[in-house]
Amino acid sequence: MTPPNIPRRAQRLLALGDRRFDLLVVGGGITGAGIARDAARRGLAVALVERDDFAAGTSSRSSRLIHGGVRYLEHGYLHLVFEASRERRRLLDLAPHLVHPLQFTWPVYRGARVPRWKLGAGLLLYDALALFRNVGRHRRLGREGVLAEEPRLAADGLTGGAAYWDAATDDARLTVANALDAAHASATIVNHAEVRALTFDGAHGPCDGALVHDRIGGQEIRVQARVVLNAAGPWTDEIAALEAAPSGPAVRGTKGVHIAVPAERVGNRGAVTMLSPDDGRVMFTLPAGTHTIIGTTDTPTTEHPHEVRAHGADVRYLLGACNRFFPEARLSEDDVVAAWAGIRPLVASGNRGDPASASREHAIRTSARGVITITGGKLTTYRAMAEQCVDAVVRHLGVRVRPCDTAHVPLPGERPAAHPEDVRLVPELPWRESDVVQAVRFECAETIADVLVRRMPLAFERRDHGLAVAPRVAAVMGNLLRWTDAGIAHALDEYAQEVRRLFTVEP
Ligand SMILES: Cc1cc2nc3c(=O)[nH]c(=O)nc-3n(C[C@H](O)[C@H](O)[C@H](O)COP(=O)(O)OP(=O)(O)OC[C@H]3O[C@@H](n4cnc5c(N)ncnc54)[C@H](O)[C@@H]3O)c2cc1C
Repeated sequence: MTPPNIPRRAQRLLALGDRRFDLLVVGGGITGAGIARDAARRGLAVALVERDDFAAGTSSRSSRLIHGGVRYLEHGYLHLVFEASRERRRLLDLAPHLVHPLQFTWPVYRGARVPRWKLGAGLLLYDALALFRNVGRHRRLGREGVLAEEPRLAADGLTGGAAYWDAATDDARLTVANALDAAHASATIVNHAEVRALTFDGAHGPCDGALVHDRIGGQEIRVQARVVLNAAGPWTDEIAALEAAPSGPAVRGTKGVHIAVPAERVGNRGAVTMLSPDDGRVMFTLPAGTHTIIGTTDTPTTEHPHEVRAHGADVRYLLGACNRFFPEARLSEDDVVAAWAGIRPLVASGNRGDPASASREHAIRTSARGVITITGGKLTTYRAMAEQCVDAVVRHLGVRVRPCDTAHVPLPGERPAAHPEDVRLVPELPWRESDVVQAVRFECAETIADVLVRRMPLAFERRDHGLAVAPRVAAVMGNLLRWTDAGIAHALDEYAQEVRRLFTVEP
């Protein structure tokens, strides 16, 4: 099925400057994209601008789980688990092409911080908070039961464990699907369009729009809006600083690193929940096609979200945990196919102590000059966050709109079936040249990184992060976007820089 077309980029840029919007959303991560979709579906005139690409920030660097958040039980965030479990159920129903059930095995070893009885009680509560409507209920497992699920787990000291259900997604595609559906509902969405200044109605009046810089064409556009919404994730405080009188930090970033290694080295069959042998934190070994993803870390950071990268110590911490649970893997730094980092945009207030126990709940606030800011939250709860945020926008505007329908309306974004003659970009991965065409024609991909990092996760699954296939991708894109030879050379150069920025492991 061919997806509905959205206007070309040039037309969308024109539209940005052409009218006064009800709502300008700054930031095209899952939070901003979800808000733009909900607001547009309710009938508001919406613009969504993203300085890089949709999902280029934290929303392409998550653990890709749509989960109730079993570890939040320990910290008593029952409301968050309840809400996340409800959203997991909805996303499994409404976006089965993007969200699929994933079974986790939690092995318990002698002397573990979470003993078997506590795990059993916790998972019973986990099922109860999902109103026993999760994909399946948890099962307590004896030692042999755990090894039957995951034969490559360390058998030494294993006393038993449990199996339970959560769900997995492709975080970037989930984000792009929301942005595109916002456009299908008449929102004007533009990636590679950066807010450089906010504008105000008079010296002390309310915010009435923004100056937006088109990072591809170089033009400046004055976007007028009745309300501006800051959904810039870890960049939130930078947008807030554009207000004359910012009201203190809104986000506190913690850094999370993941690594991908060849799946056959680890030999996990499904997802495995691990307690870090170093500090007892909950971590995961996750299946990802030909790869296994190990993550994550959770450390306070002052690194800029644009420059955040994995460090050698992060990589060793993750490898160490995986080797302890899967001793035959004997992973070393040479086995790491890719390592990357993202920043959790946690709510600043009340989050002072241990990052692992910091709340993942979200906060919505309105500044003295009328800018609405949303911080915190999770990929899993984005739809509910968007609903609350758009309610706040509607109250602020004092208008009547259609009711929120995102809890019932399926999310589009299915990948079209491949033609048999369409060859794969890389033999062992499923992505094809037709996916590149689809990304450019229907999914707003403008750069090689938009395609290889976010419309398909190829860059995370190749040691060269897709540099070898980049010329082929550039040729297809150049054809569609009318790039000159110099334009193709520039795009390839830019991609090489992006790969260094995202995937370099700092010593
Ligand atoms: C390591 C890690 C693992 C995680 N795992 C999970 C998980 O498994 N499940 C889960 O539910 N949640 C998970 N999370 C949390 C989840 O990923 C985040 O809560 C979510 O992605 C945040 O999305 P966001 O849209 O708020 O921020 P972002 O995705 O960072 O989006 C903000 C956007 O604003 C843009 N922007 C910045 N400045 C400007 C400007 N001037 N003009 C225009 N745009 C601008 C940025 O380019 C960026 O794209 C994880 C987080 C991390 C870090």
